[in-house]
Amino acid sequence: MSSFLNHCKRLFYKSKLMASDKKLRFPAKLYFRILALFLGFLLELEKELRCNAFLHSIPNPFLRIASKIAYLPVAAVRIVFFHPINLTQLGLIVTTHCSLNCLHCCDWIPYIKERKHFPLSDLLADIDSAAAVVDKIYNFDIFGGEPLLRKDISEIANHASAKPNINHVRIITNGTLLPSESVLSALKKDKLVFRISDYGEYSNKIHELKKLLDKHNIPYQVYELSAWSDLGPPLNRKYTREELHRSLSHCFKRECNDLFGGAIYPCANVHTGILIGAIPDNPSDYVNIRRCGTPDAIKEARRNLRCMLKKPLYTACCYCSGSDPDFPEIPVAEQIPLNSYIDFKSGEIKKRY
Ligand code: SF4
Ligand code: SF4
Repeated sequence: MSSFLNHCKRLFYKSKLMASDKKLRFPAKLYFRILALFLGFLLELEKELRCNAFLHSIPNPFLRIASKIAYLPVAAVRIVFFHPINLTQLGLIVTTHCSLNCLHCCDWIPYIKERKHFPLSDLLADIDSAAAVVDKIYNFDIFGGEPLLRKDISEIANHASAKPNINHVRIITNGTLLPSESVLSALKKDKLVFRISDYGEYSNKIHELKKLLDKHNIPYQVYELSAWSDLGPPLNRKYTREELHRSLSHCFKRECNDLFGGAIYPCANVHTGILIGAIPDNPSDYVNIRRCGTPDAIKEARRNLRCMLKKPLYTACCYCSGSDPDFPEIPVAEQIPLNSYIDFKSGEIKKRY
């Protein structure tokens, strides 16, 4: 089922790109428009079902499937007439500090020279705004950098867990740090999952972390990869049309929406690229939601978010390899010194402090 879904997603993004291609003429353009509309509808339907916490809470499997089928017409009406904004993933960047410094970090964290923890009050306000602007969020991911470097992680996770339209809260950690007993005891457990990236020898606390989580009855998933793909440095690739299409059709981060500095971005590479000055700041590539408390502000943010999510590509996509299959696979989590950053212009590794 998940490989069928991935195939549909890939075809959907490809048809969106083709439908927006100025060089393509009728009837091919019409064909891709209809295909994008149809696949977009199917994918929204899947998200409506996936994000419906009530349907998933039905214990009997037959009753659960029957309820999902019965809900399909309602979901279809909601999509056609109300255009709900359901996100399969929204990541909150709580810090740009990290306990590792991976040369090929797919979020380009090692390119950031000035790292920081974001103020707690801003993060909590951003969670409030996101929950007001988006209808449903399936996975709300708390990450960085390394989120466990913050002492107030339980306050952030608990604030997100309290939102009825967030299904799961995941703390994404690299297995190098152990949260304190008091932090683990303070965490609300009902929606919480730890997702531990296993970077082999670098994730040197992974076994102790698993034991600790078992002790506190906190579920966890271990995410293991035998090799990484290289998104390359944030430099303008001057792609031909074909190269850009190929790069985008293999991008694995098309639904990795991020909440960073009070705005929702389509992926981390957009905000990191803008932050370090490598990528032009195009305001249509993200949506500001910070402290949007009034109904009018929420309405406008929703309108902008729908437009942003509909875009077939973003400025940063011309500066990113999008996991091009022609790029060789690279070793997992290759390190550069912790006190260093990569200068995107020269590619040199320089001292941060
Ligand atoms: S652990 Fe590595 S891949 Fe993860 S955020 Fe830190 S630098 Fe990036
Ligand atoms: S910048 Fe574009 S190609 Fe790169 S990861 Fe983000 S969506 Fe994919």
